Amino acid sequence: MNYKEHIRVIHDFPQPGIRFKDITTLLNNGAVYKQVIDTLADHYRGSGIDLVAGPEARGFVIGAPLAYALGVGFVPIRKSGKLPGETIEAGYDLEYGKDKLAVHKDAILPGQRVLIADDLLATGGTISTTINLINQLGGDIVGAAFLIELIYLNGRDKLQDLDVFSLVQY
Ligand code: 5GP
Repeated sequence: MNYKEHIRVIHDFPQPGIRFKDITTLLNNGAVYKQVIDTLADHYRGSGIDLVAGPEARGFVIGAPLAYALGVGFVPIRKSGKLPGETIEAGYDLEYGKDKLAVHKDAILPGQRVLIADDLLATGGTISTTINLINQLGGDIVGAAFLIELIYLNGRDKLQDLDVFSLVQY
């Protein structure tokens, strides 16, 4: 499957100089979206995963159906102030901006095997922060799955020991 032909590249969004990979065109195609989730699920099936964790908002679009396909729970990683229960937080730098992420304190039990999922790996800031949160809760991180990886931003270098799997590279 050539996923790239289903991903729209929009120049100068959300800031001048950014070539934004718009996945809404891929999500719009049921067969292609299903292929993405099925391929990721096939890659991780049998790895003893207990939970999939995904950062909002596009991490939900990949992570939740992946969790469903694997028959495991999903943990939403949200922007600060959105989760109603007791949370822990960590700060991060984006490719274009800064923010804080949060997770419910009781969402991951110590020793649970957690797969991280997001639509796209850019600088790795979002995933580093997600790792920080999961580590604080004592989760055992199995790896990180992405639809897209922007190789030229070297996000993998920031994630060192993490097993990174992506379907499309730019
Ligand atoms: P990072 O933290 O790795 O620099 O940026 C990755 C995060 O920013 C992901 O959660 C992703 O959703 C978002 N992001 C950054 N650039 C793009 C892009 O070009 N396209 C999409 N769809 N998301 C992006």
